[in-house]
Amino acid sequence: MDAVQRLQSGFEKFKTDVYDKKPELFEPLKEGQAPRYMVFACSDSRVCPSVTLGLQPGEAFTVRNIAALVPPYDKNRYTGIGSAIEYAVCALKVQVLVVIGHSKCGGIKALLSLKDGAADSFHFVEDWVRIGFPAKKKVQTEHAARHADDQCDILEKEAVNVSLSNLLTYPWVKEGVEKGTLKLVGGHYDFVIGKFLAWEAMADAVERLKAGFEQFKADVYDKKPELFEPLKAHQSPKYMVFACSDSRVCPSVTLGLQPGEAFAVRNIASMVPPYDKTKYAGVGSAIEYAVCALKVEVIVVIGHSRCGGIKALLSLQEGEADKFHFVEEWVRIGAPAKAKVQADHASAAFEDQCSILEKEAVNVSLENLKSYPFVKEGLEKGTLKIVGGHYDFVSGKFETWTP
Ligand SMILES: [Zn+2]
Ligand SMILES: [Zn+2]
Repeated sequence: MDAVQRLQSGFEKFKTDVYDKKPELFEPLKEGQAPRYMVFACSDSRVCPSVTLGLQPGEAFTVRNIAALVPPYDKNRYTGIGSAIEYAVCALKVQVLVVIGHSKCGGIKALLSLKDGAADSFHFVEDWVRIGFPAKKKVQTEHAARHADDQCDILEKEAVNVSLSNLLTYPWVKEGVEKGTLKLVGGHYDFVIGKFLAWEAMADAVERLKAGFEQFKADVYDKKPELFEPLKAHQSPKYMVFACSDSRVCPSVTLGLQPGEAFAVRNIASMVPPYDKTKYAGVGSAIEYAVCALKVEVIVVIGHSRCGGIKALLSLQEGEADKFHFVEEWVRIGAPAKAKVQADHASAAFEDQCSILEKEAVNVSLENLKSYPFVKEGLEKGTLKIVGGHYDFVSGKFETWTP
């Protein structure tokens, strides 16, 4: 089955088995999302939190990047993640921020393997994983005598703690935590032994996550050793998928992507910025790792209906001051698509322009992918394909196209 057929048939199964059967879940979500959680998880193809924690459509606004790292507040370098945190906390009013590490994390291993003073061998990867450097220092000091594998295990959790403390550098997170409207939870999914740990804060949030995991473990993990055993050793996903952080559009759910099948990045409006080592190490490191280390064969960028990020982009007025610290700056990545839609569909209503822009922004992302030398090379050699997609949860449709 080719890549596009695989996605389409995954969607058809989701539509028949889930979407069409649960109007009580999906109808209200057509109007808006009000997720309780914002979840940070690694892009690793084995650890989608919709699967491992049974998070339902509408329940969790999700960011996925290398090693689930949250960098400290920085308007110049980290608009991708900053815009997602800002939108989740200030616009969606999520109540719990959860950062989840995992066993055998390639990003954490890369962090632990970095030698002081050695030149970086990747364009982005080392620079990104260095966000966890304070955790590495702690582990190397406190567990100096331990074997590297044990240090990795400990570092997976300590890096989560660094991310949790970095979250407090975002003023609206700090304020929410101080007021008690926002809780921070750390988590760790060990897929080798089939265990999920959650720590700190709000007991009921931790219970929800643990119950979701227990159900996943009993219904899926323990029942499919033929799927999970090989994945304990390594991942070799065929796909890299970009999807919006929106709580309604997790591609593991909507396309039935299985553990091990897709390396995933989730950010506001599933934007792929152009190659830029200074500003976009988050997305850059994920693309580089997926293409150069994991050798994915297909990169899929998926937009969706009623996307808040796309609406924000279309609403931006020229010359007006930004209201957010990060959001406008991030969605401006799609500015070329907005200019095209406003020129080609000037007389269309705002809502219709939005729908068109959802797809045109995907096209801009597909074009931006080509600015990464390793992507360009793969496309030229024919070892890599890029595919655009759009999930419309109002009409229950999924479209794909190749540029
Ligand atoms: Zn990982
Ligand atoms: Zn969206």
